[in-house]
Amino acid sequence: MNVIIGLEIHCQLSTETKLFCGCSTDYRNDEPNTHVCPVCLGLPGALPRINRKAVEYGLRVAKALEMEVLEESEFARKNYFYPDLPKGFQITQYDRPLAVAGTLEIEDDEGHAKSVRITRIHMEEDPGRLVHMGGGDRARYSLVDYNRSGIPLIEIVTEPDLRSPQEARRFLNKLRTMLEYLGVFDGDREGALRVDANISLEGHERAEVKNISSYKGVEKALTFEITRQRNLVRRGQRIARETRHFQEARGITTSSRSKEEEHDYRYFTEPDLRPLRVRDWLEAIELPELPVARRNRFMAEYGISLNHARTLTGDLRLADFYEQVAAVDPALAATWVADTLLGELNYRSMGIGSVPPDRFAGLLRLIRDDAITDRGAVDVLRIMLDQCSRGEACETPAEIVRRQNLGKVTDDDFSAVVRRVLAAHPQAVEDYLSGKKGALNFLVGQAMKETRGRADPKAITRIMVECIGSEGGF
Ligand code: ZN
Ligand code: MN
Repeated sequence: MNVIIGLEIHCQLSTETKLFCGCSTDYRNDEPNTHVCPVCLGLPGALPRINRKAVEYGLRVAKALEMEVLEESEFARKNYFYPDLPKGFQITQYDRPLAVAGTLEIEDDEGHAKSVRITRIHMEEDPGRLVHMGGGDRARYSLVDYNRSGIPLIEIVTEPDLRSPQEARRFLNKLRTMLEYLGVFDGDREGALRVDANISLEGHERAEVKNISSYKGVEKALTFEITRQRNLVRRGQRIARETRHFQEARGITTSSRSKEEEHDYRYFTEPDLRPLRVRDWLEAIELPELPVARRNRFMAEYGISLNHARTLTGDLRLADFYEQVAAVDPALAATWVADTLLGELNYRSMGIGSVPPDRFAGLLRLIRDDAITDRGAVDVLRIMLDQCSRGEACETPAEIVRRQNLGKVTDDDFSAVVRRVLAAHPQAVEDYLSGKKGALNFLVGQAMKETRGRADPKAITRIMVECIGSEGGF
């Protein structure tokens, strides 16, 4: 049974002011209900005015997704009652959205390129945020914060082209990356991207899973749904067409209500806003370098592998970070950023933003100049990241090396260690001299232990062979 998935993605646009009023969108550190005015509180008689920047941002996305922008689009009222929207309707777009018919290319589960069709993009206002005190079903009362009310959203709707939860996750990652490259989206804001997913088994009714707010959540919710729907079919039961809620903490979806039909919303044209005629703005919109172009440039300009280039350009800030440290040595920087640093950051749930590029470049210089072994460098990196994550002023890599005595041991230091090891293990030396090559590995291992991994095993081996040769078998 084929799995059929389509997504509806709400993204907050990172404009400075709201969609229909001048209230600031940056309320992260402020008290609830402090970024509000008659318009975004929905007071009677307040009139909306469209935010030009938000429309430009929407067009940027439309252009990047190669969509057709309508000659004339218009706003509509979507009527429903819920305390997150006190005026009793949401201003959105309905049958004449901003743009239609786009595509975004992703990799399918076999690693082949695949085009996912984008049905439409429309603009709408974000409702306020409800906080249920006491949690979920048992809440005794709810609080409402209208700071979020009126934040500009674009809703991106895909055709049902996705075939697995993994494809859906890849699509969302790709989309998020593109939105960040376009400079219209700030993924760090809580709830900046919220997903509704339609999912069905071929030939059966579909379920809509609402308001999933993380990428991992999307994959989990869809995986759960596939199992649930397959089990129903196996038992010969009917799959109901319904809206389901994803319970992030439990990893399951539960039925929330029977789905409203579109006609329940009583859409009609918003009489307080004129139609948008913005197709001719498109020409003036210049797109920045997008992920694929940047990936190709990284390969050409820095001579790094496709895999490294793909990883590094898969996130705007990571790509910027790489370019800030690449001058030290592009290939070395690619390896250390894409392979080592990313792993260490993931392990600590840290973002690349908390790593000072100059410090990291300093570490790369130590590695390049052979002042430190790879293992020593990883130790320095870990100490650096621990300091950064605690928000401490972090030391330079050179300072850490000095303080922790992590510097590479010189040949002279090696000789002393090697002599000690040889003296302590005469039998192994004898074995080696009588042709047992394995004995050398043992001796090198002992010396590595003594230098606590700061030595390069090749150098140790070389010095050891020299030592045994010149001093004729201890
Ligand atoms: Zn306002
Ligand atoms: Mn919507």
